[in-house]
Amino acid sequence: ITARGITEVECLVPDMAGVPRGKILPAHKFISGLKDRGLRLPESLFIQSVTGDYPEEEIMPDVDQDMYLRPDPATVRMVPWYQEPTAQVINDCYYRDASPVEMAPRHVLRRVLALYEERGWKPIIAPELEFYLVKVNPDPDYPLEPPIGRSGRPEIGRQAYGIDAVNEFDPLFEDVYDYAEAQNLDVDTLHHEAGAAQMEINFEHGEPLDLADQVFLFKRTVHQTALRHNVYATFMAKPLEGQPGSAMHIHQSVWDLDGNKTLFANEDGSESDLFRWHIGGLQKYLPQAMLLLAPNVNSYRRLVKNYSAPINMHWGRDNRTVGLRVPLSEARNTRIENRLSGADANPYLAMAASLLCGYLGMVDRLEPTKPITGSGYTKAHALPKHLPDAIERFQHARRLHEMFGPMFCQAFVAVKGAEWDAYQDVVSSWEREFLLLNV
Ligand code: GLU
Ligand code: MG
Ligand code: MG
Repeated sequence: ITARGITEVECLVPDMAGVPRGKILPAHKFISGLKDRGLRLPESLFIQSVTGDYPEEEIMPDVDQDMYLRPDPATVRMVPWYQEPTAQVINDCYYRDASPVEMAPRHVLRRVLALYEERGWKPIIAPELEFYLVKVNPDPDYPLEPPIGRSGRPEIGRQAYGIDAVNEFDPLFEDVYDYAEAQNLDVDTLHHEAGAAQMEINFEHGEPLDLADQVFLFKRTVHQTALRHNVYATFMAKPLEGQPGSAMHIHQSVWDLDGNKTLFANEDGSESDLFRWHIGGLQKYLPQAMLLLAPNVNSYRRLVKNYSAPINMHWGRDNRTVGLRVPLSEARNTRIENRLSGADANPYLAMAASLLCGYLGMVDRLEPTKPITGSGYTKAHALPKHLPDAIERFQHARRLHEMFGPMFCQAFVAVKGAEWDAYQDVVSSWEREFLLLNV
């Protein structure tokens, strides 16, 4: 920090929704803070809902004590979009007695990774993140619209894999790439998705905590860059009616601890028992854990037929109509693509959930169903259909609570319940349109 002449440091904490909270401080204060207990924030930070409210008192921590932030040195990066040299660092949270704050999403992921490590397993992850660019629109009653690109024709941005459709927003993506590089975000490919001005970024595979950090920072980067180009970027799961939703697909595999050998394939290249059981675990437990993959009222609008989004837990080879796709690959790259998670999910929590469900399958040796061929949309809808359904299933998932941490689960359920209650208070335009004079 001194060598680079950094003047300010942003101390970030990913909150329940996966967006950054924290404090900004002069660099010399940051450095002197490292010698004592450093920065503090109230623990209620983790029970604030997206509306900015707190759930009912019973879940509020007794006294709302301080948590102490401990910067993770592996995450120090520049913030490339400021004039002044500014650094950012992601923090873990601890209480005064040095015990970790169980409610912190980054800690939830660490817990799941520790389970893998105990068994001598190393999970490898590659996320893909979809998002929309939309016109700046601060009026929530007005539907979102795709921005007009340089050609002045919004319809050009309705081309899956359209090269010129991406290039409409070339100056914006030049900045996204520069900023990603300056932060060591390992972005692989960029392409236009099927929706109007819907984009997708793929990340190089790697270790889950690092990739959750990268997705967390990348979302912020895209938000910030879009604002500087006078558009909004949104990771809402279903921002536009009649258009596809945005997913965060998670490719996952399990390796030996050195990362030399995949445990998903046998010596002869065939799929291993662990691979099958991993799928079995995802099939059994993901419906109970959907709250972490589809955490918002809006998430469930995405999980409908014929938009390449899943509606069930079937698996298939090279099949985009089911929740779990096994891409065709060489034995070494055998992996499972979990397609259930929305782009609106907190990356720490979605990855923790996806890995924990697969882990339980491997530990319990759960056999999956037979892979399906043909369209998965003809099969029953086996997932929670809306937020309260997902909350209820998660509330009863006792096995998962132990492993995610009971305090986290209680807090998450309370926050999501409060969001559902707030949503229920709003009378929508659909109700006015169809019920005003018809009932
Ligand atoms: N946008 C789709 C979804 O919501 C995924 C499209 C794809 O296959 O990449 O799940
Ligand atoms: Mg896609
Ligand atoms: Mg994909």
